[in-house]
Amino acid sequence: MRFLVLSLLLLLSSALVNTSLADGADILGYDQAGSVTQRAAEQRLDAAINAEEMSEWLRVMSATPHHAGSAAGKANAEFIAGLLASWGYEVEIAEYEILLPTPRVREIELLEPGTFTASLREDSLAEDPSTSRREHLLPPYNAFSIDGEVEGELVFVNYGIPEDYEILERNGIDVNGKIAIAKYGKSWRGIKPKLASEKGAIGTIIYSDPADDGYGAGDVYPKGPFKNESGVQRGSVMDMPTYPGDVLTPGRGATKKAKRLKRKDAPTITKIPVLPISYRDALPLLSALGGEVVPKEWRGGLPITYHFGPGPARVRLKAKFNWDMVTAYDVIARLEGSQYPDEWVIRGNHHDGWNHGASDPLSGQVAMLAEAKAVAALAKAGQRPLRTIIYAAWDAEEPGLIGSTEWAEHHADELKKHAVAYLNTDGSSRGFIYIGGSHILERFLNQIIEEVNDPRFELSLKERRRAYDRIYADTDKLKAEARDRADLRIYPMGSGSDYSPFLQHLGIASANIGFGGEADGGSYHTLYDTYEHFTKWLDPGLEYGATLAKVTGRATLRLANAPRLPFEFRGFADNVALYVDELEELANTMRDETEKTRQLLEEGTYAAALNPHKTLGPPAEEPPVPYFNFAPLRNAVDRLEAAANLFDAATANNAGVSEEINQLLFSSERLLTRDAGLEGRPWYKHYIYAPGFYTGYGVKTIPAVREAIEQREYAVVDPQIEVAADVLNGMAERIERLSTLINGE
Ligand SMILES: [Zn+2]
Repeated sequence: MRFLVLSLLLLLSSALVNTSLADGADILGYDQAGSVTQRAAEQRLDAAINAEEMSEWLRVMSATPHHAGSAAGKANAEFIAGLLASWGYEVEIAEYEILLPTPRVREIELLEPGTFTASLREDSLAEDPSTSRREHLLPPYNAFSIDGEVEGELVFVNYGIPEDYEILERNGIDVNGKIAIAKYGKSWRGIKPKLASEKGAIGTIIYSDPADDGYGAGDVYPKGPFKNESGVQRGSVMDMPTYPGDVLTPGRGATKKAKRLKRKDAPTITKIPVLPISYRDALPLLSALGGEVVPKEWRGGLPITYHFGPGPARVRLKAKFNWDMVTAYDVIARLEGSQYPDEWVIRGNHHDGWNHGASDPLSGQVAMLAEAKAVAALAKAGQRPLRTIIYAAWDAEEPGLIGSTEWAEHHADELKKHAVAYLNTDGSSRGFIYIGGSHILERFLNQIIEEVNDPRFELSLKERRRAYDRIYADTDKLKAEARDRADLRIYPMGSGSDYSPFLQHLGIASANIGFGGEADGGSYHTLYDTYEHFTKWLDPGLEYGATLAKVTGRATLRLANAPRLPFEFRGFADNVALYVDELEELANTMRDETEKTRQLLEEGTYAAALNPHKTLGPPAEEPPVPYFNFAPLRNAVDRLEAAANLFDAATANNAGVSEEINQLLFSSERLLTRDAGLEGRPWYKHYIYAPGFYTGYGVKTIPAVREAIEQREYAVVDPQIEVAADVLNGMAERIERLSTLINGE
């Protein structure tokens, strides 16, 4: 009784600041009485989340380096499993045998002019005791670089992305037979050696330029959060846009007995050796480059004039690895649903780090643990979720989403049958909420951030984010939209964390949630991602971490308890309409630009305007861009919009509560996948969201059409438009069927 009064009071006090509560709006998928009960449970969830306890877990788990395959990594998995079991979960540690290279030899030497040997070492700092705990620390390296020793002229390729190579080509610079040095940033790091090797380079060096996340961005650690001169970003360079996970077992779980590729046949290991370095080590290399001065946009923050090369700098690069099989430990904790045990809500965050990993991944991991503890306490107090909840702490995310991918592949059939949704978090800091995900979850997630307040402001997370977007969004159109659109758009997801196998391989509606924007820094994947750094600079007091647990806790519980699953299709239709607009705009812009360039070339304008004392030549002439037939996609979008409106009308009075309807709802995201997958990378089966083949983390929406246009494979565009339209029509048909069922017709 005392609890009831207390929770009512809490409900009333929060109703004063939360408009949707004041309005008495029902939770999506719930009726009025159900909404009241659910919100009361959420008040208890909030009350159970304890930032001090989270901070203590963070301190314990980040005390030593805990990468996949390390003793500390295994100890952390056991620590997490122990906590979850003590709260009442059925816990299992799923083991996978994966190939995981660690460095054996790392050498970078400048041979001429002058000589220099790169230290490839990060400094310990007296101000941060964790940085002196180096036992079992993995030195800076890029996982899944091939073994090799190469020697050649050095050439600067800026960020090493496709447009950088266009500039190099216009300057007559061929990277063939040379060693490319690229800045970190602007693409996922694995793209840099992939493109360099496609262009004929024999090795790649990646460095962090101080303009991006060092002294050019702010005070460096320990004075500030940014990268000091010795900091090196580690990270995987596996070709994840082809497939993530264990390189030897694409498409199947890496169990002990699984059939494996030979290492030499694994297509996702790089073709050329790669090593990452600090800006202290990059300075003598870049200083030794001659050739033309780079364009203004290519300059970084080092106190030198940046040149392209190639040469006269000659460099030797040697990288050799221990190609060990190690065990990955995924902690899987289950709370069986009281009413629909065969419908699973899955919530995950990885536990392995590159080193101490306080921010990445433990800041998200401790938020998930706080949520799991609170959910278990609710269950013990008699509010057991209706559906089964599975908490997963993944191992080996850093080397290539390996723990989550292997588990998802291993259990693919069950997951396709039972998974309602997958909710992901990873490293998180402070500031503004960001949410990516399946757009059938857009309304659902917006409703949650309307009801959770920013810890620093008497404003909902949604209003804070809206304010930010109104001022800082990239374009005027987006600024206006932030003011006028009822729901904030959730961003479409490419890759970069453990949602990828669930969304893009299995077609499970997914979301990725975190905070950021008020605490940039340079600790990512360096020795400096420590408890000290995180709690001083990124989220002191874990204030935003605790708020994250409230957001994801609501999402998990609402999905687990909703009488009708809280999926909605108007947001989906509206976002797809936007992507189709973008595709048409992309084709039109490319057509105009191609024609403009052709004219300028024909009229001799480039020849007259270009500086004859410089090497920059005119761009290459491309064949004209034809007109494509977007009508099938336009018609599919119209049908989707109409179907989404019908569904909204049908569910207006909280109708549509049945197992059959829920089954049709949660399996609807599967319809956006095709078994054959994307051309050339069949692991990726989703036809609306995929990571870009040449961007890595960056998403490509309606990827088969978009990449065909971007890569000027014109003959493929119309057929791929037909396929994408078929996929969307399948979804529209499902929504129509749902409305018919709900209306009892
Ligand atoms: Zn991470």
